[in-house]
Amino acid sequence: MSDQTVSQDVVVSLLYRLTLDDGSLVEESTADDPLVYLHGHDNIIPGLENALNGMVVGEQKQVSVEAVDAYGEYEPDEVDEVPVSELPDGLEPEVGMVLAVHDEDGEEDVAQITGIEDDVIILDFNHPLAGQRLHFDVTIAELREATAEELEHGHVHDDDYEDDEDYEDED
Ligand code: ZN
Repeated sequence: MSDQTVSQDVVVSLLYRLTLDDGSLVEESTADDPLVYLHGHDNIIPGLENALNGMVVGEQKQVSVEAVDAYGEYEPDEVDEVPVSELPDGLEPEVGMVLAVHDEDGEEDVAQITGIEDDVIILDFNHPLAGQRLHFDVTIAELREATAEELEHGHVHDDDYEDDEDYEDED
């Protein structure tokens, strides 16, 4: 018995099925492997997080999220051409391959190869779901209070969590 609802600082176990406008399945999380996250700390896309507010365990809902509240609009400027000669030795580029790319400041970004033309590859830095309206079929599987440490870190510590590097020195 519980009157707990999805709200700020609650740990949510979520079952979901994510599809696109054309009905294609992107991913799903089932009872064997629910998505567990700390609510109210930007751990999931804002459009979904907002829609889950106030739900109770066992409740099911269909949520559609516009691109702007999901992974953003598709930005044509976020596409670069890179000479094949600048790729790391031994890398055989293929369309669909995802690369970790470091910019001048050493920041890592992820890009997908969307084309190969003669001696250049086309690298798309947009999120693969950018520009897409997302449809979630969600069920709340479980709710619990967060621990003080989880609240401090802003994310969940479940049985098999590996903490981020920022907190390494706390072990
Ligand atoms: Zn942590």
